[in-house]
Amino acid sequence: MEKDYDVAVIGGGPAGYVCALRSAQLGKRVALIEKDQVGGTCLNRGCVPMKAFLSVAKTMRDARRASRSGLDIQFSLNFDKLVSWTRYVVERSRRGIESLLRSRGVELVKGEARFSSPGTLEILPGGGTVRAGSLVIATGSRPYDLPDVRFDSEGVISSDDIFSLRSLPKSICIVGGGVIGVEMATALAEMGSKVTVVEIMDQLLPGWCPDVVKPVCDSLGKLGVDMRIGRRIVKLERVGVGGENVAEKGMEMGRGSEGKSGCGSGTNDSSGYVATLSDGSLVESDYVLVAVGRMPNTDRLGLEAVGVELDRKGFVKVNGRLETSVPGIYAAGDVVGVPYLAHRASDHGYQIAEIIAGRREKFEQLPVPSVVYSDPEIAVVGVDEAEAAKRGVGAVAGTFQLAALARAMTINRPEGFVRVVAEKSSRKIIGAQVVGANASELVGACALAVQSGMRLEELASSVMPHPTLVEALMECAKTALGEPLHGSAGERGTVMR
Ligand code: NAD
Repeated sequence: MEKDYDVAVIGGGPAGYVCALRSAQLGKRVALIEKDQVGGTCLNRGCVPMKAFLSVAKTMRDARRASRSGLDIQFSLNFDKLVSWTRYVVERSRRGIESLLRSRGVELVKGEARFSSPGTLEILPGGGTVRAGSLVIATGSRPYDLPDVRFDSEGVISSDDIFSLRSLPKSICIVGGGVIGVEMATALAEMGSKVTVVEIMDQLLPGWCPDVVKPVCDSLGKLGVDMRIGRRIVKLERVGVGGENVAEKGMEMGRGSEGKSGCGSGTNDSSGYVATLSDGSLVESDYVLVAVGRMPNTDRLGLEAVGVELDRKGFVKVNGRLETSVPGIYAAGDVVGVPYLAHRASDHGYQIAEIIAGRREKFEQLPVPSVVYSDPEIAVVGVDEAEAAKRGVGAVAGTFQLAALARAMTINRPEGFVRVVAEKSSRKIIGAQVVGANASELVGACALAVQSGMRLEELASSVMPHPTLVEALMECAKTALGEPLHGSAGERGTVMR
């Protein structure tokens, strides 16, 4: 089979399928090549199933706290059912994407693509050929393990494997206190696992503002999560090893991390792991989840043969049009490097489709919000005060505690704050940090403010619905202008007039 297209997209994740849809919308003949399932990591084994887990964890937390407001709830978790429901959510969303692709006339080619020339892809197995005028590499990334803590297809697992478990781990040691580590710890600890997090750096979520991270650490501490900060695993031993199938341990045959065929020989129920940490302390657990970062899926595409340049970590080098060193070949999403975020990947895919179709000249870097779906959620966009100072930008900020909002009290979630940062000279909003219930939603409004170059005065004089959490944004702007209305007198703000 040999087929010609205007655009061939390799990888059906958030970067690839969005690029394919937009290209088709702009009148192109499009092939989308996917070796597994459309939706990629985000939909099939990442953001979406994780959020399903986290939403159940949040319901459990709310139920536990409801007695405070007069509602006594008794509940129990059926983990097997949770996994089935999560699969239903994933499959339904996947069917939605497949149907969109069909209705837009995108041809979904099943198989693994490899470049045989700059405009030609060989599809394996089967040996078909796809030719296109423009090609887009959107193959994503995969988790990696550590020399002393190798994925073993049994109990040392990656985030890919967690949704294949049949029962809630009694205990789990999470290596890496980054985004995945914190979200997994939040969900599993709330559900009743005994969770230990081992983080090599000096705080959970390294790189995030300490005052944004603190409420998350406090909440994990209340859930009983043992946080071993500034430490790493130096030795990992299996104990009580049996020879029975892992289904006994609670995991079914499923997909492992790339290159692992899932959960093979397995251990019996009494087996587990003992990790020795760099300070000599020990951690015992049934499972070890390694979440120390991801690497790009660029090693099986034949890129070097056609001259696509990679950096030394294997990321695809791109120019200001997201075009690689070979004209006509573009790259989107995780394969071009951090941040690994689905929405950023989709934006890449969308803009590349427009560049190919001649709708835009070059890639426009828009503010990209980052969210950790911890409890409380934390979310940021643009720059914080420290980053503004590093860039030599004079900044002002206004902070508002959610506890001062009636809405936060009525939903029983008074913890957290919002901070809005603006350039001092222009008063244009350049960033925001949000900690608290629904931070993931509030940050969307902040992103709009940053993207549109909104000024503090405009935000301060906006009319927000009452009672809501979004009122905090308006209050932050007032505080930054030195005229806090509902903010406490001591709240941080900058007097500007
Ligand atoms: P990460 O980079 O967020 O965190 C990895 C953590 O592991 C870091 O804190 C690092 O210091 C730590 N670490 C590294 N080596 C270690 C060692 N030997 N021992 C102990 N700790 C060690 O990576 P991740 O959590 O694996 O997530 C991967 C990517 O997926 C991230 O870039 C993230 O942005 C993305 N993701 C995003 C979301 C979201 O947007 N909500 C959710 C999940 C994942």
